[in-house]
Amino acid sequence: MKSLKHTTLGLVALACTSAFAQENYKDLINKVEISEYSDRYTPVQYITPATKFSKKPKNVIFFIGDGMGQAQVYAALTANGGQMYMSQLNLCGYSQTQSWSDYVTDSAAGGTALACGQKTRNYMVGMSPDSVAIPSMLELAEKAGKATGVVVTVAVTHATPASFVAHVNDRHKYEEIASFYPNSGIDVFIGGGMKHFTERKDGRNLVKEMTEKEGYRFYEDLNSAKNDNKSKLAVLAYPEHMPDVTSDRKFSLAESTKKAIDILRQDKNGFFLMVEGSQIDWGGHHNVISEVVNEVIDMDKAVGEALKFAAEDGETLIVITADHETGGLSIINGDYKTGAVKANFSSGNHTGIMVPVYAVGPGAEEFHGWYQNTEVFDRIVKQLNIKK
Ligand code: MG
Ligand code: ZN
Repeated sequence: MKSLKHTTLGLVALACTSAFAQENYKDLINKVEISEYSDRYTPVQYITPATKFSKKPKNVIFFIGDGMGQAQVYAALTANGGQMYMSQLNLCGYSQTQSWSDYVTDSAAGGTALACGQKTRNYMVGMSPDSVAIPSMLELAEKAGKATGVVVTVAVTHATPASFVAHVNDRHKYEEIASFYPNSGIDVFIGGGMKHFTERKDGRNLVKEMTEKEGYRFYEDLNSAKNDNKSKLAVLAYPEHMPDVTSDRKFSLAESTKKAIDILRQDKNGFFLMVEGSQIDWGGHHNVISEVVNEVIDMDKAVGEALKFAAEDGETLIVITADHETGGLSIINGDYKTGAVKANFSSGNHTGIMVPVYAVGPGAEEFHGWYQNTEVFDRIVKQLNIKK
């Protein structure tokens, strides 16, 4: 996205010598980075006290900010001058992210807990710790006759989207994960990962199979799909992941989310859509605050598209959460006027701190409180009434 500009003003790395010396607080700082965001947007207030909602949701739009803790959200809020779409989801909770095997989860176990409602071993996708496949909320929604979709900014075979579609004991089995897309019934999926469908060791061409046997249309850009708004649409825009949002990503998450909603909303039985801000996590791993800010903002604009639809539809529950926090991010200082954020990362990896859950729409009050990540699944399937 060329329009997203950022300036890195400074980068200071200080060695952590005596982490517990009370008299020397500066030693606690591992890495301080300042980003300044200049391309402001004013979020439209789609949800107001006058917005009318049904009693139960017919549709769910489920956002996962990979690696998005409270500090990541607040950094983006500060960068955008103190406002963002996410603040319209004013029913809040906390999710504990520990996996079955580890205090600090990876995105496979974290995704599986959210998608399937069961804690599992790190690296496992859609399976219990003893390697039994467990159905995801997307699969339950599909079985209940709803339309379903997945929209991400990485390969659609990456851990988070895979948790909703596939069942494998190792997240790195990308080609095996891709082979769960045929016969999944999924109505729309948008992201990267074409090569896992077409350049496979087993010689199968899943694009050809899904086109010929199931009537899917595959595109390599959102623009070339602009006149196609029917179910069974796939956009695989890159061989693997999308590039960084500040470089030439073909389209924004807001555009792909809008496309998915336009298709899914046609289903009379309602829909389930998972949207992932996939690369917030990578900004955390890289300890680059401008990357974190730009990726959260990319997702926030997609939240805006969901809110716009939900406000007029009245039967759509929107839930936003994360699989885990990444980077041990803290905000030391900020400036709403300039959008500057002074950030400190304490880790290059995921952390165990609980992550926020934000909800709005029918059933949103169910997400208030403090609970395990698996209960996000419990609450969504209960609201959609899709469990067997
Ligand atoms: Mg992910
Ligand atoms: Zn990560």
